[in-house]
Amino acid sequence: MSARIIDGKAFAAGLRARIAAEAARLKREHGVVPGLATVLVGSDPASEVYVRNKNRTAEALGLHSVSRHLPAEASEAQVLAVVRQLNEDPAVHGILVQMPLPAQVREAAVLDTLDPAKDVDALTPTNAGLLLSGRAHLVSCTPAGVMMLLKEYLGDIAGSDALVIGRSLLFGKPAAQLLLAANATVTMAHSRSRDLPALARRADILVAAIGKAHFVQGDWIKPGAAVIDVGINRVADGDTTKIVGDVDYEAAARIAGAITPVPGGVGAMTIVCLMRNTLLAAAALAGLPPPKV
Ligand code: NAP
Repeated sequence: MSARIIDGKAFAAGLRARIAAEAARLKREHGVVPGLATVLVGSDPASEVYVRNKNRTAEALGLHSVSRHLPAEASEAQVLAVVRQLNEDPAVHGILVQMPLPAQVREAAVLDTLDPAKDVDALTPTNAGLLLSGRAHLVSCTPAGVMMLLKEYLGDIAGSDALVIGRSLLFGKPAAQLLLAANATVTMAHSRSRDLPALARRADILVAAIGKAHFVQGDWIKPGAAVIDVGINRVADGDTTKIVGDVDYEAAARIAGAITPVPGGVGAMTIVCLMRNTLLAAAALAGLPPPKV
C-alpha cells in the first residue's frame, strides 16, 4: 500500500487565489485594503527570511504590507510602543510579532499589549480563550491550515481517533481544540507521555509537531491512518542541508492511507492562512461579514 499524498502546496495555491480575489472585492466594494504589519526584533537569519516572505506574500495578494525592524538590543518598552502604534493604525488589520524575541522582551507582555482583533497569529489569551469557548474568529495559522487539509482530503472526521504529539501554544494546543470541535476523539501527547508508539498505533489521524527529525517511526502508524507532519527540521545532506519532517516519511508512506510531505505539505499552508486571517480581521474591523475563502 502506498499513501495518498496530501498536497498542501496545491491546496495553498487555490487558497491564495481565493484570498486575492476577496481582497480585491473588499477594496472595490468597500474601499478596505487588508493590511499586515510584521514586527521583527533583532536579526536572526531564519526570522528575517520568514518576515520577508510574509511581507512579500501579502503584497503579491494585493494586501497592504508594513514591516517594522527593531535592533536586537531594543527594550521591551520600545517594542510595546511599536505594537501600540500598530494597534492604533487604521491601515493595519493584522499584526505579527515574529518569535522568538530577545530575552529582555517578555513574550507575555507583547501578547498582552497586542489588540486581539489584530492578532493574526491568534496567540493572545483572548483568542486562545475564544477557541476554547468554540467562538474563535482568528485561529492560529498552522492548525487552521491542517484542518483545511483534513477537510479536503478526509471529509468528515467525526468519531476518528486523533493523536496530536506536541502541546505548544502555537500549534499543539489549538490543533487539539480544532480536532475536538470537528468531533474527533483527541489525545494530546508530549515529552512526558508514556508509550508513544502504542498511542500512535491507535490513531486514525496522527499529527506530529515535535521538532525532531524522523522521530515518528513507520511501525507506529496504524494501517490506513492519515499522517500530518508539522515538523520543519534542517538536517545535513552532504555539503548542504535539507528540510525534513518529524515523521520517517518513506516508512510511514508505505503504511498510512494519506500523508503530508515535507516540504510541500503543512508548511505550504501556514503563510497563506496568515493572509486569510488578515483578510478576516480587516473585514471584521470594518464591520463586514467574513469573506468566504
Ligand atoms: P515546541 O514549542 O518546541 O513544542 C514541541 C513539543 O514537542 C512540546 O510540546 C514537547 O513536549 C514535544 N516533544 C518534544 N520531545 C518529545 C518527545 N520525545 N516525545 C513526545 N513529545 C515531545 O515546537 P512547536 O512550535 O510546536 O513546533 C514543532 C515543530 O513544528 C517544529 O519542527 C516547528 O518548526 C514546526 N512548525 C511548523 C510550522 C509550519 O508552518 N509548518 C508551524 C509551527 C511549527 P513538552 O511540552 O513536554 O516539552
